Amino acid sequence: MEKLELHIPQSLFSPAAYEHFEGEYPLEILKAGPDLYSFAQPLTYSVDVSNTGDALLLTGTVEGEATTSCARCLEPFSFPVTGEIEGYFLIHEDDEAPEDMEEEEFEVLPANNTIDLATYLQAALLLEVPLVPLCKDECAGICPTCGVNLNEESCSCEPQNEHPVAANNPFAVLKDLPLSD
Ligand SMILES: [Zn+2]
Ligand SMILES: [Zn+2]
Repeated sequence: MEKLELHIPQSLFSPAAYEHFEGEYPLEILKAGPDLYSFAQPLTYSVDVSNTGDALLLTGTVEGEATTSCARCLEPFSFPVTGEIEGYFLIHEDDEAPEDMEEEEFEVLPANNTIDLATYLQAALLLEVPLVPLCKDECAGICPTCGVNLNEESCSCEPQNEHPVAANNPFAVLKDLPLSD
């Protein structure tokens, strides 16, 4: 994964200082469990960094248009996704973290004063993508016997009690994924 380095300017090291940053990040593929989401266009992000005294607070949003394959009918579909970015960086290693924070909720600002925003953009998107991607809630899926897309045509196969093949096979979604144009 390509880094997205955000260098913290000296001005942010005064208490109550605040800076806004925005830009684009080309994330081609986001891997969420068995599912892959591709982004034909770069993500756009908009973040604020503020100095709380002992720490830098990172907040903001990231947006993109994700494409994946439907877990039921395997057809590719796209949808807009917006994630909430959150980070908390202690300015000095020996500063005390707030009492209500778990250890994984904060980091120590690296010595070069540079944060890799890419990690935070991905984490924000991972919270927003669906557990099971469906082209639409009522997607009829494919016939497990003859394989027709039941959203587009019907077939005369006997109904089966088993789940459709696609729902059981986490790799089925990989089949139609457009990796690039
Ligand atoms: Zn579908
Ligand atoms: Zn059929």
